[in-house]
Amino acid sequence: MIPVAGYQGQRVGVLGLGRSGLATARALAAGGAIPALWDDSPEARARAEAEGMACTDLTRPAAVTDLAALVVSPGIPHLYPQPHRTIALAIEAGVPVDNDVGLFFRSYATRDWDAFDDTPRVVCVTGSNGKSTTTALIAHVLAQAGRPVQTGGNIGRGVLDLEPAENGQVTVLELSSYQTDLARALTPDVAVCTNLSPDHLDRHAGMGGYFAAKRRLFAEGGPDRAVVGVDEVEGRFLAGQLAQGPGDDRVIRISSGQNLEGFGWSVFARKGFLAEWRKGRQVAAIDLRGVAGLPGAHNHQNACAAYAACRSLGVAPRAIEAAFHSFAGLPHRSQLIADRAGVRYVNDSKATNVDSAAKALQAFARIRWIAGGLGKDGGIAALAPHLGSVVKAYLIGHSARDFALQLGETPHEICETMARAVARAAAEAQPGDVVLLAPAAASFDQYPNFEKRGEDFARLVADLPPAAG
Ligand code: ADP
Repeated sequence: MIPVAGYQGQRVGVLGLGRSGLATARALAAGGAIPALWDDSPEARARAEAEGMACTDLTRPAAVTDLAALVVSPGIPHLYPQPHRTIALAIEAGVPVDNDVGLFFRSYATRDWDAFDDTPRVVCVTGSNGKSTTTALIAHVLAQAGRPVQTGGNIGRGVLDLEPAENGQVTVLELSSYQTDLARALTPDVAVCTNLSPDHLDRHAGMGGYFAAKRRLFAEGGPDRAVVGVDEVEGRFLAGQLAQGPGDDRVIRISSGQNLEGFGWSVFARKGFLAEWRKGRQVAAIDLRGVAGLPGAHNHQNACAAYAACRSLGVAPRAIEAAFHSFAGLPHRSQLIADRAGVRYVNDSKATNVDSAAKALQAFARIRWIAGGLGKDGGIAALAPHLGSVVKAYLIGHSARDFALQLGETPHEICETMARAVARAAAEAQPGDVVLLAPAAASFDQYPNFEKRGEDFARLVADLPPAAG
């Protein structure tokens, strides 16, 4: 745990008592603050009270006005579409609104900082897609290189639950746009933004607000290195704004698809090869085509981002390449779970919408595609340009018949259940095929969540009789 500095003896409000809220409450108390806790949900309050933490009704104005700060969970709207009542009270009373990430940055560097001969560093990863994969990949490479490393934030542990700084340690934080928007202190050593596409627009009052939230990660603290995905105009704008000129190597531009040879420092992937360029010269290259844990152009973008972050921390290209090969992928995100008699089985249960399913469909050449569930508006019409690699679709769940109508000429079969879909796909697969679960639909008609759906797929694949695989 990282005790929160700067609030000794003062009341600090904590709004939202999920995983990060409870960690915040403990870290505030450990630093000598007096946490005042609230959650609108009686169950969440009961959980806090079961841990011995008292709750205070922070929807009453009198309970808010004397707070030294109000710390808010990412799921609670702080400005748009409208602020939560407690936050509105804090804004009116001039009480600073912050989050656990802001508290982390004001507390992580301690008095004995100068005693470290290898200064601890913080890497922050944001972006619309690929944050978790990039965060996990950076941590994996650093761990393989023998560096002490920990991860947290939007994945895994809450930031205040992490270990205090130690010599040479790298802390890799995955941060959502909600988190970067609200943190009052945001001072990473290395800041990474993978890409940008419209998301959570209601919480940011549109695309401009969403981009502005991500930009804070680069603008607030002035990181030593900025790793910026330039596959969208916002990324190109940001990179240009941060650098003194195209040759400034404090900015590392990354891309999946573009040639970025002309910049001071760049890392880009084209046709399956990652290249690092510095000052007009190629300094390293990696063949990503055989890296099983990072299939597809979208994962090559993540690989470029992770490579750039690790290079800026001094890891050698060959060490990064070796670590890429031992990266198993994150569960449920283009995860290779089995290779049976030349047929690969890939779990991308996290592909709950058409955008992420499109990325998965572009990642492989001959796909037996398991899709369906609780379809979204428009079904899979937008996937038509990406069906060329689908040998056959095996459709499950509520949307199976709707998806079948939209598949047109693409061979398909209505299987209803995951068990039947896996059995049929395995029976028909030829060596070289990929049996891909990328449902383009939510899971709630048949499973509690996408993780359970992916686990069911993995279990069914593991249980396939040898003759079928
Ligand atoms: P995040 O943490 O940003 O949600 P994940 O790494 O968990 O990202 O991936 C979420 C989904 O998006 C998965 O279905 C994955 O296959 C897809 N994806 C991963 N990386 C990218 C990327 N760079 N661009 C587009 N889609 C991606």
